[in-house]
Amino acid sequence: MPSRFEFRRYRLPFRAPVRTAHGLWREREGLLVRVEDEAGAVGFGEAAPIPDFGTETIDVAAEACRKLGDRVDDATLATLPANLPCLRHALAAALRPETSTPAVASLGVAALLPAGRAALAQVPAKAELGFRVFKWKVGVADLADELALLDDLCAALPNGAKLRLDANGAWERRHAERWLERAADRPIEFVEQPAPPKNRDLLLGLAHDFPTPLALDESVAGNADIAQWLGDGWPGVYVLKPSLLADLSAALAQLEHAKADVVFSSALETAVGARTALQAAFAWRTAKPRALGFGVYPLFADARCDGPFAAPFLRWEDVQRLDPAATWAAVPGQ
Ligand code: MG
Repeated sequence: MPSRFEFRRYRLPFRAPVRTAHGLWREREGLLVRVEDEAGAVGFGEAAPIPDFGTETIDVAAEACRKLGDRVDDATLATLPANLPCLRHALAAALRPETSTPAVASLGVAALLPAGRAALAQVPAKAELGFRVFKWKVGVADLADELALLDDLCAALPNGAKLRLDANGAWERRHAERWLERAADRPIEFVEQPAPPKNRDLLLGLAHDFPTPLALDESVAGNADIAQWLGDGWPGVYVLKPSLLADLSAALAQLEHAKADVVFSSALETAVGARTALQAAFAWRTAKPRALGFGVYPLFADARCDGPFAAPFLRWEDVQRLDPAATWAAVPGQ
């Protein structure tokens, strides 16, 4: 029997503007879906599009929701076109709640550092809290200045800590090579998206030429991208933003089959999407789990929309405690 379907579009201000590679964000737009079956079982899902990553816009997702009417089932999911990855993700999450048991009881979380020199001042306090993986945005300032800062930052890290560098596709070959030469004998966990997604040959070449692992983020924003990089035998890390994937379970099955090295990462979604993503992260089986890219909360002005508070470790109980119904209630209806 089809389930009852509702959706609520949201526009949620952030507590403070978020600086991304695509500019300054002051608010997040997206939508939540709610389904309820004949027996009264309720499921929630979230579409949190990022058009710069190749997803649909929120207007397109909302329009498609209006056309769905008030009943949905698995057949509805199958008929949604491929150009609606975030809506397909939301509906799949709502109709097919994750049931697998967690593979781990807790996972580390990477501490987010601000770009530029401001990062330095934040390391001691975060180290004191217990963070041991730090993420720093690079490729935003002068190359020589940033390379000098890298040394200061490495010197400030606590013993055994690692630094993730995220270039958001900013570098040309020569810049990327300078960074990767420098990274080789420093505690760099990996360098994320050192070159633009379209520059596949450069990315593959760099991954083979330098010892520091490289990670793909913008390059693997959709199911088809993941399949293509797996086919190319990408030797580095896959940064997965589960909220952007039309078919999360298919992507995870392909990555698992390839024994891929995966980092689960936030798309600045609410607790609804964060819960789906984190359930997948906890179900992921690997000998050496990498720290989650979910150190983004508190994020929203309305705390009822937040995922789990950024702490050095996230426990399975923290994920189970997320309450999608509370976030749904916090978002005004149409
Ligand atoms: Mg990134």
